[in-house]
Amino acid sequence: MRDLSNVRRIVIKVGTNLLSSEQGIDEERVRSICRQIAELRNMGYQVILVSSGAVGLGAKELGHRNKVVYVTMRQACAAIGQPVLMYHYREAFREFGIIAAQVLLTRNDLNNRKTYNNLRSSVSMLLSMGVVPIFNENDVVSIAEIGTAFGDNDRMSAMVASKIDAQLLILLTDIDGLYTGNPKKDPDAVLLHEVDTVTDEIVGFAKGAGSTFSTGGMKTKLMAARIAAMADCATVIASGYHEEVLVSILKGEDEGTYIHPSIRLTQRQRWIINNSHSGSIVVDDGAAQALERHRSLLFSGVVGVSGVFESGDVVQVRRQNGELFGKAVTSFDSTQISLMMGRRSDEIDSVLGKGHKDCIFRPEDLVVVKDECSL
Ligand code: GLU
Repeated sequence: MRDLSNVRRIVIKVGTNLLSSEQGIDEERVRSICRQIAELRNMGYQVILVSSGAVGLGAKELGHRNKVVYVTMRQACAAIGQPVLMYHYREAFREFGIIAAQVLLTRNDLNNRKTYNNLRSSVSMLLSMGVVPIFNENDVVSIAEIGTAFGDNDRMSAMVASKIDAQLLILLTDIDGLYTGNPKKDPDAVLLHEVDTVTDEIVGFAKGAGSTFSTGGMKTKLMAARIAAMADCATVIASGYHEEVLVSILKGEDEGTYIHPSIRLTQRQRWIINNSHSGSIVVDDGAAQALERHRSLLFSGVVGVSGVFESGDVVQVRRQNGELFGKAVTSFDSTQISLMMGRRSDEIDSVLGKGHKDCIFRPEDLVVVKDECSL
């Protein structure tokens, strides 16, 4: 049995496939999810729902038969489909005496401390009143092309779970969990009920499987589990087609794949990791070694800078060979760093004027992250 005794707050993400039917939305599925959420609420849990489906529903309203790829059309579809999605949730929740709320997010809303704090307070208020907040990405204003998007709702749900201190993230999908191979083709493929850490080998299972059936966006789910794990939040990837899936997960049963939480990062470290970066600073080997020994980054160790950023922004730190080293909050902007790179700290005053800090960032402003995928 899994030990979920510490779980109070749960984020549940529902994918488009799970909700889709020939007619548009699978009303029975929506009803089943809402009924189970009502049950979890009765068991004393706080529940936040992250639901996809706006683009798909909008496309169906417009009579599109194929996947919508054109960005502006996807945005238009999201604008049309989002109220339809909410209508169905509202109707289904009403049957169980639950009020639903809509929360549309962009990545910037989480990056910016003020909007993030506003979000935390309003979500806490909603939860304290017993309302179920239903999140979706604000697709109408936020797209990958301008760097404001989460990219997918798996990732968004993990970031939401991390930011609002959930202890459990449940990713409901159309397959049973993570298999070691493609269960349709490989008779030896087994379902992994428990994963300690999302290692590259584990990610390889998702990539190797190769069919829509067995992957079903499994890689993005594992990336999401990584983000959640860093916030001390466990993840379960399970099939939303199992009638009592949510309740059985919370009873600790072996439903789907359970991914353990890992290291506990502080709020600030999580904020740094989950923030989108505005540029990169390239450091030489000596500086990288110093950073590994928890020293500050000095200008003398910087060999390159790219992107345009302000002091106080989050930037990537890269080694000379291009490898990612980590993410940090810089105390200087990109122009100042290009002027000062390679120079000694005692030249700061003469090059940039007085009143600056003596290093680019201190150890507490850096989080070492070697894995590109988790960013
Ligand atoms: N926000 C998109 C929608 O509501 C879904 C994104 C995703 O599926 O990850 O259709």
